Amino acid sequence: MRASLFEPIVEALQGLKSLVVGLRITGREFAKPQRTVHYPRQVVGDAALQGYRGHIELVPLEDDAQTPRCIACMQCERICPSNCIRLKVEKPAKPAKAAQPAEDTVDTDTVTPKTKRTADMPKDGGRKKVTAFHLDYTLCSLCGLCVQVCPVVSLRHSANLYLAGPTREAFHLDLLARLHRQPEAPAPGEGPRGGGKPEKLAPRKPFVKKDAEGGEGV
Ligand code: SF4
Ligand code: SF4
Repeated sequence: MRASLFEPIVEALQGLKSLVVGLRITGREFAKPQRTVHYPRQVVGDAALQGYRGHIELVPLEDDAQTPRCIACMQCERICPSNCIRLKVEKPAKPAKAAQPAEDTVDTDTVTPKTKRTADMPKDGGRKKVTAFHLDYTLCSLCGLCVQVCPVVSLRHSANLYLAGPTREAFHLDLLARLHRQPEAPAPGEGPRGGGKPEKLAPRKPFVKKDAEGGEGV
């Protein structure tokens, strides 16, 4: 009889205690700085995207935002374990061979030595040029090997965290076309890493193997 009288009071006190605990947790979280954004009215700032690994993108030259640093070495395509990079490379045109004059009519003043550049040679020294850089993002595992292997730091992970599409084809990305588009129309949320002024990148440090004692080996 006595126990049944106090039972509802104990239950009410337990409920009140649990209410106070819940309100304390809610109040503490309410006072913390906001960590989410009201997308699409707000987008995540660049500071919060440090270290974020979006799909890979091409890095432009410092003085030309439309041209990638890429030297068409194909190492990224070869190393990709998911086989999702496809490059098209244009080889430099071979300078047309001038008609050889007959030996007895050679004019020694106009003969060009083999080592000397002629007018029809390309100014960039006849380097290979990448004309298409396709990424199948549906296959990419974001392992970062292509970024690591690039000898001229022409690849990096983008800050494009808003990528969405209704079909698989929407994730077949033309990275060269994207680079050409960027200075005019950066996608929402793409800051300097994605679409603004190209950042200055520190030169890549040479890889040094460390020996067992922690000293630097060869
Ligand atoms: S991040 Fe990895 S999987 Fe993705 S394209 Fe580069 S090498 Fe391939
Ligand atoms: S590894 Fe770098 S330089 Fe070589 S093809 Fe790929 S992006 Fe271009």
